[in-house]
Amino acid sequence: MPDSVSDVGEFGLIDAVTARFPQGDGVVVGPGDDAAIIAVGSGRVVVTTDMLVEGRHFRRDWSSARDIGRKAAAQNLSDIAAMGARATAITVGLGAPGDLDVAWTLELADGMRDECARVGASVIGGDMVSSETVVLAITALGELDGLEPVLRSGARAGDVLAVCGRLGWAEAGLRVLSRGFRSPRALVDAHRCPEVPYDAGPEAATLGATAMCDVSDGLLADAGHLAESSHVRIDIERERLEITEAMREVGSALGADPMTWVLTGGDDNAMLATFPAQVPLPERWRVIGRVYDGEGVRVDGAPYEGDAGHVHFS
Ligand SMILES: [Mg+2]
Repeated sequence: MPDSVSDVGEFGLIDAVTARFPQGDGVVVGPGDDAAIIAVGSGRVVVTTDMLVEGRHFRRDWSSARDIGRKAAAQNLSDIAAMGARATAITVGLGAPGDLDVAWTLELADGMRDECARVGASVIGGDMVSSETVVLAITALGELDGLEPVLRSGARAGDVLAVCGRLGWAEAGLRVLSRGFRSPRALVDAHRCPEVPYDAGPEAATLGATAMCDVSDGLLADAGHLAESSHVRIDIERERLEITEAMREVGSALGADPMTWVLTGGDDNAMLATFPAQVPLPERWRVIGRVYDGEGVRVDGAPYEGDAGHVHFS
């Protein structure tokens, strides 16, 4: 029988988890005291928090503990990047059933550690409680490195809308898993953990992005957040959106239109930003639309018919 969380006890488990988190240069006091202390070079701290609940945001039979740990960290690290910042540290709150395997929990910790390592962030602390299902609450901290933060509210008529990263992959993977399939692997893996272009966030800030967010709820929903905060209208052009061959194949196998996943699928954590039209953009930033006076989001000039993406508390 593997050790369960209740066999090891809260403090034993916290010690075992903490031992897996190397501490970066910016950490003055790491895990083990009442609170951690991190150095802040610029004098400004970017903070975000996000929760994941088993059954609603992940399933233990669809994703490994490692993937769940990576995804949970990625969602928070992505929000830091979407401000134009570089993540430096996360803290983790974990609710865990008493009969949860210790090995599963340590794998979860490894996933968080590995995703944080991609951006040079440290896991600096957290807490653990018993709960009926696995619940994760992560707080991420970030550093602007002297850049101005890119808010959602700065888009102006005449700007272009550009995206860096994947759209629709995670949703396609989720549809595949929901039908009981395990391939195409690239799409299934994209649902299990996003490939976030973290450095595109600070890059956009450097390039002079006027507004930015990451695509967690879906392209139309998140473009809608930019439009609403900036008091502008955003038009997206379908022909500029990329549908991969794998997505096309899954679409025809499932009798679904993959364009719907690209427009409304969440969880890929692409960076979505507006830029003044004259800014030359690096190749990985694809222009997919334009900003106009007005309000709301349009697709090819018309209101989108259908569900625009993930709605919280639906
Ligand atoms: Mg976000």
